[in-house]
This record gives sequence, C-alpha cells and structure tokens, in this order.
Amino acid sequence: MAYIEPAPIKDRENPFESMMSRFHIASQALGLDDEVYNVLKSPAKQVQVSLPITMDDGSIKVFDGFRVIHSNILGPSKGGIRYDMSVHMDEVKALAAWMTWKCAVVDIPYGGAKGGIKCNPRQMSSGEIERLTRAYTFAMAEIFGPDRDIPAPDMGTGPREMAWLMDAYSRVQGMTVNSVVTGKPLVLGGSLGRAEATGRGVMVSALTAMEKLRINPYQASISVQGFGNVGSYASLLLEERGCRIVAISDLSGAYYNEKGIPIEEAIAFRDKNNGHLDGFDQAEKISGEDLLTLKVDVLVPAATEDVINTDNAENINARLIVEGANGPTSSTADGIINEKGIMVAPDILANAGGVTVSYFEWVQNRLGYKWSAERVNRRSDRIMKDAFERVYKTSLEYKVSMRIAAYIVAIDKVSKTYKFRGGF
Ligand code: NAD
Repeated sequence: MAYIEPAPIKDRENPFESMMSRFHIASQALGLDDEVYNVLKSPAKQVQVSLPITMDDGSIKVFDGFRVIHSNILGPSKGGIRYDMSVHMDEVKALAAWMTWKCAVVDIPYGGAKGGIKCNPRQMSSGEIERLTRAYTFAMAEIFGPDRDIPAPDMGTGPREMAWLMDAYSRVQGMTVNSVVTGKPLVLGGSLGRAEATGRGVMVSALTAMEKLRINPYQASISVQGFGNVGSYASLLLEERGCRIVAISDLSGAYYNEKGIPIEEAIAFRDKNNGHLDGFDQAEKISGEDLLTLKVDVLVPAATEDVINTDNAENINARLIVEGANGPTSSTADGIINEKGIMVAPDILANAGGVTVSYFEWVQNRLGYKWSAERVNRRSDRIMKDAFERVYKTSLEYKVSMRIAAYIVAIDKVSKTYKFRGGF
C-alpha cells in the first residue's frame, strides 16, 4: 500500500523538557513552593535492567528494560509498558510524569509510572516476545504489585503481553494476582468497555467543551487525525451523538467528505484492509497536513506527538482541539494556539478515559466481581465530565489555558497530598 512517510516534525521536542515547561508554568501560577517543586520534578525511582533472551535461532540477545516510577504520592503508580526501538530513559521519565498528572486530573488514587523495552516487536516471533515479557516481569517482580506499581499496555504491547506479565508475576508470588496489571484479555479479568474507553473519554471531553463554546453537536464538523484505537472510537461515538466527521486519516493519507464520513463503514473497511484506510472510496483523498488545517469546529489529533507545531499552528482553523494523542501539540505551539483563541482540551484530561477504565479493571479484580459495560461507561463518563468541569473552572479562576489549568489541578492535588503525608 501507499504509505506516506509523515513529514519530518519541526518541533520534535525532548518529551521530558516539553512536560517540564508546562509543569514549570503551572507551578508558578499555583505559587508552588520550591521544596514541593523539587520533590515533583524528579522521578521517585528509576530502574534499568538488562535482559538476555534466547532467540529462536539459538543466539542470545540482550535487551534493555526500563521502569520509572515518577510518583506514588496519591497511591500505587500506574502506567503502560512500551515496546519500541525509540525507548530510552528520558522518554520513559517524561511519560511517567505525564501519568502522575493524568491520574491526578481525573482524581483516581494512583501515582504515575511508565516502562518499556528497547526492541522491535514487529521483527520478533511471538515466542521471543513472550520470553522477553516474562524476563522483564521477573526482573521487575519487586517493583510491580497491585499495591505498588501496576503496569498496562502502551505502544507495541496489548492484552497478550499483559496476560504473560500477569502469569509470570503470579508464578513468582505462588498465587494468581490478576490485579497486578490492567488491559488484560476479558477472560483473565479484563474490563468491559476498556477497548473504547479512551475514545469515549475524548467524546465526553469534546461534547463538554462544545457546550462551553455553544457549539451545537448536531451542526458540528469534526476532523480526526489517526484512525487507530482512539481515533476510530472517538469518531464513531461522536457520530452517534450527531456530529459530522468530515475528515479522518492514518499513515496512508487523509480522507475528506464534506457531508460526513460514514464511520462504521470506514472501520469495517479498515478492518478488512490490513488495518489501514488506503483505497477508502467514500471520501476524497487529501494530504495529512490539509486535514490539520481544515475549517472545522473541532480537531481531534489522535495519532502521535508534536503534529501541531510552529510550522502549522498559525493555520489551524478549528475552534476547539481535543487531544486524543499524548503530546500532539508542541509546547512552542501552545502560545500561538492560545493567541488564536482556540480552546484545547489537553491530553492529560481528554485522553484519561483509558486510565480511568484501567482503574475500574483493578477495582473489579480486587472485588472479585465484574461490572456491566453500562456501569463502566456511566461511571467513566461521570469522572471525565467532572474532571473537565474542574479544569474549566480553574482556567477561568487563574486566567490560564485549559492545558495549564489541567496541570494546576493535578499539581495542586499531588502537592497537597504530599504535604499531608510528609517526607523524612
Ligand atoms: P493506534 O496504533 O491504534 O493508532 C494510531 C493511528 O494513528 C493509526 O491509524 C496510524 O496509522 C495513525 N498515524 C500515526 N502517525 C500518523 C501521522 N503522522 N498522521 C496520520 N496518522 C498517523 O494507537 P492508539 O492507541 O489509537 O493511540 C493514538 C494516540 O493516543 C497515541 O498518542 C497514544 O499514546 C494516545 N493514547 C492512547 C490510549 C489508548 O488507550 N489506546 C490512551 C491514552 C493515549
């Protein structure tokens, strides 16, 4: 298929610095004292392990594995595990801090963590990935735990890896411990509603923001970048609520239909077409860059980081940006977007539906009980809506953007909790 190589990203930012620049602005607005600032700016624990794995051809290859616990002030730390060649300590540190803020914004009792293994899972057999996952879990057995640190899937990992992780951890403990990890297959204690949870949270955030901006969903036009888990569920659920999705995209290109793209058909096409939209004929093909600058009510970047940057920020024509992806707006583009008066529902708020339902999975595992999809959805919708309202109110109170307001809400919660708990 005709994969279009994404254009090089101008503002490709060091993720740690990008997170820190927002953390710094929010800390100043909040008047955070230096002591707490210093506690929160550095991760609580960083672990790096070396994992020798026997490959299928009999050779031994050594992989680097990482786990960073940024904070466990609010509770056990929570965060995904990424399998990718780009994994390195700086990135894992940034993503771990992001998780702290995300859990605090939606007010769930977790700290933040992240992990990863530098590897290319697409070039490994299922047996090699299984051995690597089990070796990583053994190496991290003292770090992980339902009351200590709870991993989840991220790029390059999914329910299959979480099942191996849960099994390996349970063997070390000598008993089944399914609450040590979330994102498991349903039969192993996964939660109903998890697959669509992030897209659903994006939908709730978008509708709540539209209410504030007095955009009628039945007249709203939306473009969505990225048609994977987050982008396709967000599109489907927004369409179900009356919105017109005029453009969608993936790595094969972007697809535009002014009258609205039939999302169920686009999903069915993608699923039959090896996971991509190339050849989708219910829309006109446009460039990925054009999708970002379309005149629409809402833009949902749900693909990757730094796609809204100083190259294109000036040309963004949406009234509202709802960040499904992590870090889709570079910190240098924040100012331009604010100047233009575009409201942003920031990543740590808008895509927190996934971690919220992960939390429900952990709660259900600990209760030894299963909730219906209806209960999961109702509770996560309420959490997402409440979080949006909290951040919105803070943005008015402090006269700051929604992004900085989200950081303020998160940092305020973590710092107040820290003060009660105290240090040594
Ligand atoms: P995914 O792999 O299922 O889908 C990614 C989609 O983006 C694919 O359609 C891919 O073709 C497309 N894409 C990648 N680069 C692109 C580009 N430059 N232009 C256009 N399309 C591009 O991934 P996902 O799980 O949907 O995650 C998407 C984003 O959301 C990531 O930033 C991820 O960190 C974030 N996120 C995901 C979850 C979750 O629960 N899955 C939770 C929180 C945040």
